[in-house]
Formats: sequence, structure tokens, C-alpha cells
Amino acid sequence: MVGKVITKSKDITRVTLDVEEIPKKWYNIAADLPGGLPPALNPGTKEPLKPEEWEAIFPKGLIKQELSTDRFIKIPDEVRTALAQFGRPSPLYRARRLEKALRTPARIYYKREDLSPVGSHKPNTAIAQAYYNFAEGIEHLTTETGAGQWGSALSMATAYFGMKCTVFMVRSSYDQKPYRKYVMKLYGANVYPSPSDKTAFGRKTQAEDPDCPGSLGIAISEAIETAVGTPNSKYSLGSVLNHVMLHQTVIGQEVRAQLAKIDERPDRMIACVGGGSNFAGFTFPFIYDKLKGKNDARFIAVEPESVPSLTGCSSGESRYDYDFGDTAGMTPLLKMHTLGHDFMPDPIHAGGLRYHGMAPTVSALYDKGMIEAEALPQDETFAAGMLFTRTEGLIAAPESCHAIASAIRHAQECKRENKEEVIVFNLSGHGLLDLQNYATMLGM
Ligand SMILES: *Cc1c(COP(=O)(O)O)cnc(C)c1O
Repeated sequence: MVGKVITKSKDITRVTLDVEEIPKKWYNIAADLPGGLPPALNPGTKEPLKPEEWEAIFPKGLIKQELSTDRFIKIPDEVRTALAQFGRPSPLYRARRLEKALRTPARIYYKREDLSPVGSHKPNTAIAQAYYNFAEGIEHLTTETGAGQWGSALSMATAYFGMKCTVFMVRSSYDQKPYRKYVMKLYGANVYPSPSDKTAFGRKTQAEDPDCPGSLGIAISEAIETAVGTPNSKYSLGSVLNHVMLHQTVIGQEVRAQLAKIDERPDRMIACVGGGSNFAGFTFPFIYDKLKGKNDARFIAVEPESVPSLTGCSSGESRYDYDFGDTAGMTPLLKMHTLGHDFMPDPIHAGGLRYHGMAPTVSALYDKGMIEAEALPQDETFAAGMLFTRTEGLIAAPESCHAIASAIRHAQECKRENKEEVIVFNLSGHGLLDLQNYATMLGM
């Protein structure tokens, strides 16, 4: 039975959709959060931020989405066309060979967000953000990047719309992980190591600590300073904010259509969390369904043990409170699960999971007990990633290995309890530009 190619059956190998089935609307969970979403605050006045206060850094189209409580928001045709250009809809795979290796009665599926040209889910929002800026005549976007996935996605999206892009890349990654830097330059972006000498905050940080390896928070501060100080420029953020979560919901809507085609219903949905966007995009449409009584799934966010923004709440390592998104304190205050905006994470391999805070939407759901969280040790995630490579034939991003490791834990639990459950996880990216991390884990 392994690998048998058939359709409309649970024995399927992969489920595909037509280009016309790219979702036509985004789903906005702000419409359905019990008690509503706590507003972003002006750090000076502690009053809810007014739309015009966002305008220094974001275009009106995105601010409207950021503050919207409309349940559905139409996806512009230009955005759907670009999503098609870069590979949507993405297939859903059945992990038959992994199931067999685990001897589990569970059925495991995974969504292929590793197939975009830059290898992660991040283009889903990069394209939408570049479009809304382009539509308002903005010519240049600035941003930060850690290991480089977000910078690559935004470089690709700005190139598509004929815009300029400046990326501040965390210095330790800039020096140690050159490949995504090359990707960004190929797309035409300016890439600077952060802290840099291009901004006042970067120069100040360098003066205080000449060997500073940088952090996402420092790079965000530099990107915002550059956007505010350069004509016709805006800033772009790859996770955390409501409009980013919104744009990612194409993932879960596609999964919903794909599971419906094979008459499956999810019992456990699993994704890794850095700022929360791939988890949000993957699960929010199903959380909406659950609220309407259409499924009874569990939603599981997986974070690294060393960056426990959600799970650290019980031990006091993290808290659910207002905090800045960046180190310099330039962003609005967001109510989120946070390790503190000056948190300096361990240099773990999964660069995309090192952020100190969690998206306000994901944080609110966790606070209300509507989703669960798990923290996994790094060794286990790489072991899981290697089993995935040897069974399913794919090399997963170190971030995605957290979701794989959790899916394996749950499949083993299903085996112990003899439960034939449906486990679906999000394969948020491929690891072909992270081979150095695998080499280190292999002792090479
Ligand atoms: C950026 C990234 C993540 C983490 O970011 P989220 O906003 O939590 O999704 C996870 N996986 C990959 C492959 C990434 O590039």
C-alpha cells in the first residue's frame, strides 16, 4: 500500500488543489476571540494606538487589517495571482512511511509550506504586505531578519512588485549563515549586519558592545529607524502582528479543503511557534470551525525549551503582559506572552524560533485555554527531523523539526493508547539552507 497513488480515499499519498482553489478571503480571528483582542498601546500615553499613529511605519491598507474585526477580508486578485506564481496552493501529504516506522495507528498528515521559492510559509504575508505598500505608492520596504527566512521572503515579494528592500540581518547569522544573505542579494535587496553603522541605534549599540552578536529586537529597531528616516519608505514585520496572522490563513483554509476531499477530520493540529504566524495560519480556520462545533481538534503550539514564551508562564520565566516588540522600545506595546524585550536567547539552531514574544492573537487563545503549548529540547527535534528525512525523504527546517518531533510524540501516545487519531502538522519550511546546523548536530 505504501506510496499507492489514488485519490478520494484515506489511503492517499498527497492531496492537491487547483490554482482556482487558492482561498478568496483571509480569516480574521479577531472577530471570534471571546472578550476581543487587547489593543496595542502607545508606549508614552498607554492609550490604545490610533490608526494614524501606525502610519509612520505601515500603509493604510495594512493598518485597516491590523485593527479590523471583520471576520473575512477579501484577498485582492493581484495577491492571489502572486500566490499562484510562487506555488500556491501547496499540497497536503500523508506521512505513510513515518507512520509505518512508528507503528502507530494514528494517521499523520503534513502541509507542504516548504515548497515556496524561498523555502518557508513567509511569502504568504510578504506578498500581501508588499502589495498593499505598492498600491499606496511606497517604493522601499525595510525589515529585520534572523536566520534570513523573512528577509528572503520580503526580498522576493518586493522584487515581484518592482520595489526596493533593505534588510537588517542579525550579525551572528550574517557571519555564520551566508547563504540566505546571497538569496536576498540575488533578489536585489540591500543587506546589512545588525547592529550596523547605518542607524543611530546601531551605532549606539556597537559603541556599548563592539562584539554584540545582534538580536531580532535590535534589528527591528534599526529597520524602523530607517523606514521612518527615508522618504517613501515603510517597515514590514514577518510575524506577531494581526495582519500577518491574517495573511497566513490561506494555509489552514487549504488544509480544510484538502482534508474535506478525503473525508478526514483533524484530532490534533501541530505547528512550531516563533512569533506564531505559521501556527496561526494553519490552525485559525480550524479554531473557527471548532467554535461552530464542526470539529473537536486540539491545537498544539511547539516552542524550543530555551525560548519558552508560552510554556514559561507556569514557571514565571515568561508573563502575559504588555511589552515592546523590539529591544529599543520603538514599537507599540503589545499584550503578549513574553520573556521580556531585552531577552537574549541562546544561539539555538532554529533561528526562526528565537523571538522573545508571541503574537497577541496566539497569546490570547493560550490565555483562554483554547490552544495548548509544548516545549521541546533541541536534540529531540533534530532526531525527529532525521527520522523524517529517512522516511518521508524531505529535509525539514530546524524550526519545522519542532512540529515533527511533537507529531511523533503524539503518534507514540496514540500507539500506547491504541487510538486511531488524525494528526496534522505544518511543515513550515525546508532545511536545505540549514545544513550547517544538521552538520553540527551530526558532529561533523
Ligand atoms: C520564521 C519561521 C518560523 C517561525 O515563525 P512563526 O511566525 O512562528 O511562524 C517557523 N518555521 C520556519 C521555516 C520559519 O522560516
